[in-house]
Amino acid sequence: MFASALRVSALAFNHYSTGVIPMSSVERVYSYSAVLMGSPILLKLFEDNQQAAQAVFHLIKQQEDMLTVNRAHSQLMTINHAAGLHPVVVSRPVFELISKAKTVSLMQDSCFNFTIGPLVKRWKIGFHGDTVPSPAEIQSLLPLTRPDQVMLDPQACSVYLAQAGMEIDLGAIAKGYIADRVRDLLQQMGIHQALINLGGNVLTLGTPRYGDQSAWGVGLKKPFAAPDALIGIIEVAGKSVVTSGIYERYFEQEGKIYHHILDPETGYPLDNELLSVTVISDDSVDGDIYTTLLYGMGVKKALHYLTTVPHIEAIFVTRTGQVILSSQRQFRFTLQDSDYQLA
Ligand code: FAD
Ligand code: MG
Repeated sequence: MFASALRVSALAFNHYSTGVIPMSSVERVYSYSAVLMGSPILLKLFEDNQQAAQAVFHLIKQQEDMLTVNRAHSQLMTINHAAGLHPVVVSRPVFELISKAKTVSLMQDSCFNFTIGPLVKRWKIGFHGDTVPSPAEIQSLLPLTRPDQVMLDPQACSVYLAQAGMEIDLGAIAKGYIADRVRDLLQQMGIHQALINLGGNVLTLGTPRYGDQSAWGVGLKKPFAAPDALIGIIEVAGKSVVTSGIYERYFEQEGKIYHHILDPETGYPLDNELLSVTVISDDSVDGDIYTTLLYGMGVKKALHYLTTVPHIEAIFVTRTGQVILSSQRQFRFTLQDSDYQLA
């Protein structure tokens, strides 16, 4: 039960914590944490408001219950269980999220594919029992990952997977969507200065309430290093900061790293020059979508593409130690680690 996992602590802002860098010690910040969606969840407020924290964790739990594919039952699993059999009526918000995921999956050259489920389930990366599938297994699963075979009926609010064995997986978009719902809830409760971290999806409301700070400091994690090691600090106010990387969920076999962002073309983990992509945007759902999309494009193509999407900015971290910023309109970045260079 999520309530039992809820922890509350009043902390001075003079220490490091999950991906968030405190910047002064003059105000008290109240941190509430839980483990939901297999991820550490952190909420920071500037007053002790246990009721608000409970409401936030309750909302996340409700959303998880609808969208999870890690349990037998959820709205998503009802669709997956009915693959090849019949359409399933879902709630309007779930329908809208699936429609968005389908649109992004069908974009030209998109590496985002929300029907990647059969491959995710087989690789099990980040879960017990992860192994490298045989090439024959990959070839047998690839035909089940066809976004165009997800039939949506907006009138009936129903979703139908045309082939038996197909499975929707919203792992690359749902945390961003849920972070936005948490922001909406906090705002409805009259809270306009807060930070929520859904295991790598950070969403900031307003500015921190201490001193003359006009921005939150969000740490950019150093890949394959100690959990609190940082490449640098991203300063933002009222923005989402989402990172996708190959160093959080992976396993190693015979010296090779297999990470959880799969190439829908090959069925294997995406293999390019990138260790991570961080997206700064207004909405976290966009941050979640674009981290995956841009990761698949690689640096050169992604930088070119971002010139056409002004509300999305990105930070790329490469295997050769380069940190590349697409632009810096909505954030400031300070490099801290001498193993990395700004390119
Ligand atoms: P992103 O980089 O944004 O996306 C990677 C994830 O998206 C992969 O893990 C996979 O699920 C999927 N994916 C892989 N390749 C592609 C692709 N080409 N296109 C589109 N999607 C792709 N984790 C647990 O350990 N236990 C749980 O019980 C659990 N429950 C969850 C419930 C919910 C509702 C959600 C949203 C997540 C849950 N997770 C759980 C985490 C989940 O398994 C993913 O690992 C997580 O969502 C990845 O987030 P990310 O931002 O790091 O990854
Ligand atoms: Mg994502």
